[in-house]
Amino acid sequence: MTAPFLSDANELHEKLVTIRRDLHAHPELGFQEIRTARVVAEELSTLGYEVVTGVGKTGVVGLLNGGQPGDQTVLLRFDMDALPIEEANDVPYRSQTPGVMHACGHDAHVAVGLGVANILAKHRASFPGTIKLMFQPAEEGLGGAIAMIDDGVLKEPDVDVALGLHVTSLLPLGKAVVRSGAMMAAADEATIVVHGRGGHAAHPEQATDAVLIGSHIVVALQTIISRNLHPEEVGVITVGSIQAGQANNVIAETATLRCSIRSFEQEIRELLHRRIREVAIGVAAAFGATADVDIHIGVDPTVNAPAPTAVIYEAAAEVLGTEHIDTTFRTTGGEDFSAILLRVPGNFFFLGGRNDARQLNFPHHNPHFDIDEACLSQGVAILCAAAVRCLNGELAKHQ
Ligand SMILES: [Zn+2]
Ligand SMILES: [Zn+2]
Repeated sequence: MTAPFLSDANELHEKLVTIRRDLHAHPELGFQEIRTARVVAEELSTLGYEVVTGVGKTGVVGLLNGGQPGDQTVLLRFDMDALPIEEANDVPYRSQTPGVMHACGHDAHVAVGLGVANILAKHRASFPGTIKLMFQPAEEGLGGAIAMIDDGVLKEPDVDVALGLHVTSLLPLGKAVVRSGAMMAAADEATIVVHGRGGHAAHPEQATDAVLIGSHIVVALQTIISRNLHPEEVGVITVGSIQAGQANNVIAETATLRCSIRSFEQEIRELLHRRIREVAIGVAAAFGATADVDIHIGVDPTVNAPAPTAVIYEAAAEVLGTEHIDTTFRTTGGEDFSAILLRVPGNFFFLGGRNDARQLNFPHHNPHFDIDEACLSQGVAILCAAAVRCLNGELAKHQ
């Protein structure tokens, strides 16, 4: 069976590439997506969508009613923000903004979103219900999804199911990951401040050395994953920053450690938070110091619901072939689409964009990151087919 919408999407290929490269050349940081939002809003208006701008500061919502009777609403989400990275690629569409780069592929997501917008507008007479396109600002740690939720993106009309994707250099072009359950992790942060007693480097007996105690805490924190978690459970504690002291001949009074904490299950998440506090405070006390531990709750795990996942799987299988779809992979990366999936059932899937032969294989957030644009039309076809299936009541088939 040929995939519905694939030929439509393939016809759009050049346009998708043009949109993506234009956005790539003009990247904007979170909550500053002014130009990007304008490009999106203009295209949606031209296509006949009802457009609302300024949702969650710089977000854009596009609404389209199908021509058949139906009351379901499908939300399709595309994030728009870039990163504070200086692009190292020498390509014609290189970032024209110093120090800002689309190094996560959100430019591709916006292009896919506008491709979906084109095709669904063209076929609107054939499907029931409502399409709600959510072009989101500030995915990269700034809370863009929550900002749009607070501004009512899930209301009027109420959203029944939410779909989203991430293009990825983790997977080769032509492959996808479509899985049920927790596919991406909760990502929290801990800041530990060790309070010792400063003094002369020559007289450690008069001081309480925050550098030494902080170092013991770094090592002890690594026992939480290896000694406190069941061997089959997954968690990550990374101490990404340690700052203390100014001079070789001064014993530091304080040391500040900053950690990233990743988990899939709420129980594990709570265990990691509790043990980080216990270890930091306990180790500091053993050396005669104190530690303040501040845990900042970040994004929740990205948890896919079974029925929308089954619909995406079918759509992806028709575009890519079942042999190219992985249903088990998950990553300790975090994603703020999780905030949507906490409130409405849905699916977030990964679409391969790596091409080793063309050296399009750098990690996300790397200054050389780029993707094979052939994945754009695949993403468009999968999302169009899945959205229309949801509107046609196919979710019930998988309940
Ligand atoms: Zn990213
Ligand atoms: Zn991303």
